Amino acid sequence: EKFVEVKNLRKVYDNGYEAIKNVSFSVKKGDLVCLLGPSGCGKTTILNMLAGLLFPTSGDILFDGKSVVKTEPKDRQIGYVFQNYALYPHMTVLQNVMFPLTVGKNKKSKEEAEKVARKYMDLTQITEFANQKPGSLSGGQQQRVAIARALVQEPKILLMDEPLSNLDARLRLKIREEIRALVKKVGITTLFVTHDQEEALSIGDEIILFNDGVIQQDDLGQNFYLEP
Ligand code: ADP
Ligand code: ADP
Repeated sequence: EKFVEVKNLRKVYDNGYEAIKNVSFSVKKGDLVCLLGPSGCGKTTILNMLAGLLFPTSGDILFDGKSVVKTEPKDRQIGYVFQNYALYPHMTVLQNVMFPLTVGKNKKSKEEAEKVARKYMDLTQITEFANQKPGSLSGGQQQRVAIARALVQEPKILLMDEPLSNLDARLRLKIREEIRALVKKVGITTLFVTHDQEEALSIGDEIILFNDGVIQQDDLGQNFYLEP
C-alpha cells in the first residue's frame, strides 16, 4: 500500500547546511499528499531528492518497494511541475507537451507523441492553444501546459512545487480544484508542496507539516491540527 517511502532522509549541502534532518514518511498509492511548511524549510530539497535531481547525504527513497536512490532520474517515472512552469518559450503548446516523448530512449514516433500529447491537452483543457507560444497564455493556462507536459510520459508519481504561487487569488482557487480533479481522474500518486495552510487543507488527502528540516505532524486530514 505504501507507494512512496522516504526513510531517514538527510541532506547536508556542500556549504555544511543541514537542510533535511532524518525525515521519514510514506505516501499511499493514488493519494494526494501535501508537504506544508514555510519558505526555506526544505520542501524543494525533498522534492529534488525524490526526483533524482539531488543526491541524499544519507537515507533511502523507495518507489513501490524499490530503492531509487541509485536510479537515474529518467528511469524514475516521475513528473515534476515547477513553480515557474519552466516551459520552452520558442515552442508551441503542442511542441512543449510533446517534447518529453520526442527525446531519450523511450522516444515515440511523431504521430504517436502527438496523439498522447493531445490526450493530456484535452484533460488539462488547453487544446485550443495548441499552436500558440506559452508567452501568449495566462499564468493558469501556462500552468496547465506544464501539468500536461509532466503527465505525457505517464509517470507513476507527480511532484508539484508550489504550482499555484504565481497565480492571482481567484485563479488559484480554480486551478487547485482542477489539479485535484485531474490527479484523481488520472489516479496518479502526487506530492504537492505548498506554504499555504488553507490550500493544503483543501487539496490534500493527507498533510505532512514540515518545519526547519523536520516533520512536525504527519496525519490523515481529519485529525490535523493547525495553530489558529
Ligand atoms: P523555493 O522558491 O522553492 O523556496 P528557493 O528560492 O529557496 O526555493 O531556492 C531555489 C533554489 O535555489 C533551491 O532549490 C536551491 O537549488 C538554490 N538555493 C537556495 N538557497 C541556496 C543557498 N543558500 N545556497 C545555494 N543555493 C541555494
Ligand atoms: P523550501 O522549498 O521549503 O523553500 P528549500 O528546500 O528550497 O526550502 O531550502 C531549504 C534550505 O536549504 C534553505 O535554507 C535554503 O537556503 C537552503 N538551500 C537550498 N539549496 C541550497 C544549496 N544548494 N546550498 C546550500 N543551501 C541550500
